[in-house]
Amino acid sequence: MEELHHWIDGARTPGSSGRFADVMNPATGEVQACVPLASADEVRAAVERAAAAQPAWAATNPQRRARVMMKFGALINAHMDRLAECVSREHGKTLPDARGDVQRGLEVVEVCMGAPHLLKGEYMDNGGPGIDLYAMRQPLGVVAGITPFNFPAMIPLWKMAPALVSGNAMILKPSERTPSTAILLAELLKEAGLPDGVLQVVNGDKEAVDALLDDETVQAVGFVGSTPIAQYIYGRAAATGKRAQCFGGAKNHMIVMPDADLDKAADALVGAGYGAAGERCMAISVAVPVGEETADRLVEKLVPRIEKLKVGPYTAGEDVDYGPVITAAAKERIESLIQSGVDQGADLVVDGRGFELQGYEQGFFVGPSLFDRATPEMDIYREEIFGPVLTQVRAGSYEEALSLVMKNQYGNGTAIYTADGDTARDFASRVNVGMVGINFPIPVPLSYFTFGGWKKSAFGDLNQYGPDAFRFYTRTKTVTARWFSGIKDGGEFNFKAMD
Ligand code: NAD
Repeated sequence: MEELHHWIDGARTPGSSGRFADVMNPATGEVQACVPLASADEVRAAVERAAAAQPAWAATNPQRRARVMMKFGALINAHMDRLAECVSREHGKTLPDARGDVQRGLEVVEVCMGAPHLLKGEYMDNGGPGIDLYAMRQPLGVVAGITPFNFPAMIPLWKMAPALVSGNAMILKPSERTPSTAILLAELLKEAGLPDGVLQVVNGDKEAVDALLDDETVQAVGFVGSTPIAQYIYGRAAATGKRAQCFGGAKNHMIVMPDADLDKAADALVGAGYGAAGERCMAISVAVPVGEETADRLVEKLVPRIEKLKVGPYTAGEDVDYGPVITAAAKERIESLIQSGVDQGADLVVDGRGFELQGYEQGFFVGPSLFDRATPEMDIYREEIFGPVLTQVRAGSYEEALSLVMKNQYGNGTAIYTADGDTARDFASRVNVGMVGINFPIPVPLSYFTFGGWKKSAFGDLNQYGPDAFRFYTRTKTVTARWFSGIKDGGEFNFKAMD
């Protein structure tokens, strides 16, 4: 069986802890590789080497660091298919979806090609008599990125590109379930000119994460994953005074107004609910039609679309709609949540349990499920299912639908389908959710905006990528300067406004 590596000082490096985790092929249910799980000592050594490499990288001028991003972007494009195949092999998502995973990460690299503009700071000439002020953005030093299984290319790229181009060194700890893409990206960064040691990829589990969190050298942690772990990491990172931005889970609602184009709404719900087997933090998992007639018609339109979905391994061709879920445990959890929905009284309109595919009987496939008439007390509404399950909760009015979204503990993404601009505008203005789609189901902002949820979907300050990422990965130093020729002598003892 293939034994995977860490990436230390610019080279694939075997693990020395003696601990490994299985990397599954979710389509066949077989173990395809084992990934080393780093010990606290291995993490400490990786951090020390990164700290040694960082000052020279920080002293490299920003334009040159940006040129590394330019080459990196070109290499990602040149290796798009290889990267996408690596994503699909471990995650199970379809190849077109895996290319999207790489592409949405690449777009953040593209913004980083213009990093000098975002790093150039501020200047005020004559803030007082003969006094100038300027603010510099300086890198933090060594920072850590801890990423989830579901976007093995995109989220590591969201972390590493802004952190590195800002002059930091990064320790990336990818998901142990989908670890290989990060190593390929590290190899491409080396080829693009990144000095050895500036990016270390350390594979591991809780032991490696805790070692990073407790390490006084590590200045900041960017985390993406489930809400309980996000909250845990936020607290533990704060104990050593680190900056932390920790993005968590979601339960994204789409309101469908009676005036919406229901064919378009149904297409959007099927793509956003079942794409990537529902394993997206921006998946729509709750449909909220307004009015009984809208709800009835929406179900009529959803069912035939759901029945047509093609579920299969990524190797079965580009027309597969979605693949397996990540592990046998994930499949079991999703199916037991479906059972809880039945037990608690929701209408199971389409049942995806017991799905089998010839030749892939041991794969972690779950067919698409649709619930109607769910209520907010049910587990299928309260839990992030993270599987191919769409739950319809009927609302009597727009205000009732809006209040459902507002009261939900998560606030990552939401959408509204309507033909009325005034309703859409009201929704965007009032809803307490970080990313809003208007007749757009998965509103992941483009890379020159920023990405981040509200409520239990994010802990900490500043969003991912875009201008916020440069604020997160740099600290501000503000200089107040004057030169004495021509200026009056004598000390000043009062803390006062500048004349
Ligand atoms: P996860 O929380 O299980 O794991 C995320 C990372 O944390 C992994 O690197 C893992 O090794 C590490 N980890 C897991 N348990 C830990 C522990 N006890 N202590 C320390 N570290 C630990 O998440 P996942 O299953 O890989 O990803 C799916 C989740 O991520 C979903 O909840 C999804 O909504 C969320 N997600 C959020 C966003 C976002 O931007 N808000 C994006 C993608 C995924």
